Amino acid sequence: MEKEVNVIKLDEEFMKEFWEELEAMGMPVKELRECIQCGRCAATCPMALAGLEYFIKRIVHASMLGLKEIFLDDSSVWGCQSCNRCVEVCPMDIKPYELIQAIRRVCFREYAMPSNTIDGLRNYYERGHAVIVKGFEERRKKVGLPEMPPTVIGNEEMRKKFQEVMKQTALAEVAPFPLD
Ligand code: SF4
Ligand code: SF4
Repeated sequence: MEKEVNVIKLDEEFMKEFWEELEAMGMPVKELRECIQCGRCAATCPMALAGLEYFIKRIVHASMLGLKEIFLDDSSVWGCQSCNRCVEVCPMDIKPYELIQAIRRVCFREYAMPSNTIDGLRNYYERGHAVIVKGFEERRKKVGLPEMPPTVIGNEEMRKKFQEVMKQTALAEVAPFPLD
């Protein structure tokens, strides 16, 4: 008896839509399609070790299939540690980390990111540091430190200049908070 084979027909048009977005965000899709799914990137990726569902090998695969919806619903790409190990070990020179950055840019334009990413961005714009240590104000005062660690906000002139530079980036179009 002949075996039945299920063939999944991929919709090229559907895939192209996401590829075009990735290209516009700096990821050459031609390179992406050379991935041989060897898994070397996953073997060294902290996202995979942390058990995130979409670690780097799966992210590359889903991107090759144009599955943008996955990245809008799942926050794995925001767990990348920017360690660049995947780039160093990839035998096909795919630069998976660049793909992560391109996917984040695509997601950001649709406001599909974790809320702490927005907090970090707001802190960065307002104070010059993405991560602000809070809840230690009294203890800091006791040991003679200012309530908050010094950042660009301590210098009003520099803060204004910094914010003017930020306003000339894509942040001006996509910031989910007012750039005053
Ligand atoms: S190491 Fe490179 S070729 Fe191998 S699965 Fe990862 S991206 Fe693909
Ligand atoms: S740069 Fe990101 S995707 Fe690449 S190995 Fe590090 S954590 Fe994983």
